[in-house]
Amino acid sequence: MTARPGVVYLVGAGPGDPGLMTARSLELVAAADSILYDRLIPAAALAGARADAELRYVGKEPGDASVPQDRIHDELVDRARRGLSVVRLKGGDPFVFGRGGEEAEALRAAGVEFEVVPGVTAGVAAPAYAGIPVTHRDDASAVAFVTGHEDPGKGETALDWEALARFPGTLVMYMGVKNLPEITRALAAAGRDSGEPAAVVERGTLSGQRHVAATLETLAGAVNEAGLKPPAILLFGPVAARRDSIAWLERRPLHGKRVVVTRARAQASGMAATLAALGADVVELPAIRIEPRIESPEVRDAVEALHTYALVCLTSPNGVRLLFDAMEATGRDARALAQAQVAAIGPGTAAALRERGVIADVVPERSVAEALVEELEAVPVQGKPVLVARAAEARDLLPDALRGRGADVDVVPLYETVRENPAPDAVEAAMDADYVTFTSSSTVKNFLEVTGGRMPERARLVSIGPVTSATLREAGFEPDAEAGRHDPEGLVEALLGDAGDSAGRD
Ligand code: SAH
Repeated sequence: MTARPGVVYLVGAGPGDPGLMTARSLELVAAADSILYDRLIPAAALAGARADAELRYVGKEPGDASVPQDRIHDELVDRARRGLSVVRLKGGDPFVFGRGGEEAEALRAAGVEFEVVPGVTAGVAAPAYAGIPVTHRDDASAVAFVTGHEDPGKGETALDWEALARFPGTLVMYMGVKNLPEITRALAAAGRDSGEPAAVVERGTLSGQRHVAATLETLAGAVNEAGLKPPAILLFGPVAARRDSIAWLERRPLHGKRVVVTRARAQASGMAATLAALGADVVELPAIRIEPRIESPEVRDAVEALHTYALVCLTSPNGVRLLFDAMEATGRDARALAQAQVAAIGPGTAAALRERGVIADVVPERSVAEALVEELEAVPVQGKPVLVARAAEARDLLPDALRGRGADVDVVPLYETVRENPAPDAVEAAMDADYVTFTSSSTVKNFLEVTGGRMPERARLVSIGPVTSATLREAGFEPDAEAGRHDPEGLVEALLGDAGDSAGRD
């Protein structure tokens, strides 16, 4: 049990990039009965929550008042007393301007057990993603975390501006964008060097992060001009000038490129993660979904008779997964394929087989039916039982060719690909893409159905192979790049190649 009943966990979710959530925070989100969360948590932070978990938003609505702090305390206490495991999820770190301290005290006063899970705080992470180290051996031996929430112009303030002006190190200020002109004026008036480097990082670690670099004197004007808005971190100190030599985010190969991934949902995440790791702003438009058909009598009969086939052909990693699911449902494993030659349409399908203990006998280099037909010419099939296990809507090229050579072919549909209706804002984001990726003919058809037949105007189109490219052309769109290797890795390679070329063209 990773989250104990009756315990409240005060958990930091990091500054926005879901990759900066701690292992412990992910574990607790996945285990909790109830999650009370704020506005500034990563969009994907709740993705791993249990389907039956209570997700309760207690943050501020833009413009609206937030749920009063007392109410939050009561809700935490109430849930813990009912024996639930409760995660109180906050942006950044719960004890850095997160009111985590107050909540811990309220829980202790109520006799409720709690644990604290620190998070990566925005004041360190946002500058880091902008290429600014908050300390540096030569420039800053101290850092101060400061709230910029209070207007220094308005009478009483908790901040000692003279002390901040004298502070021998970096000033990192949270919640200060709104009061930036007053803050910079107060610091300069209190004696901080007006020529000192300064920076603002907006939406640090999130896609679309922006920053402005200036001096204490010019910062407010520059930020106003650029139109930076909360959430943002203000930073004052010589380290702000280190950006020029350290900036790394924008050097990633696909930085600033919006890429649409249109694979079926179950497979989309792997490719999406690869693209995101290369710096892309990935829009997942799961235009299709795999609907398993392994309960059908045809599949059941084929699985019962698996040991009688001389040749078993698999045409996608999904097909492999579902065939093995169907086998397992009847108590079978890889040994059921012991008598057969096994053919995979390409390296991806062969890899899925290998994971399940089967090394394919026939694997063409190009993942297309034509290549598999050619490769299978070396395998005697005349008069032999052959199983082609595949998608319901696949082309008949392979079974036709095998029948033509006298094989006794059973074609068994393991799954159907059906259209998925994506969220309207995902479609809108997709229409502004730099790249759209297509991993099969059905992704082309489904994408166009979802967008009403339109392609994003300036997007370059990347296809996984010749069949998908042909489907694009039939629809009136010329692919800009085609994968040399017809699997997701090959597609990413082709996209990278194209991005590199277009960088040269710019
Ligand atoms: N507990 C949080 C801070 C909450 S106060 C933490 O440790 O990070 C809210 C302020 O945090 C915002 O006004 C902003 O100054 C800062 N902030 C939060 N997320 C941010 C982000 N992604 N980029 C820049 N600043 C951010």
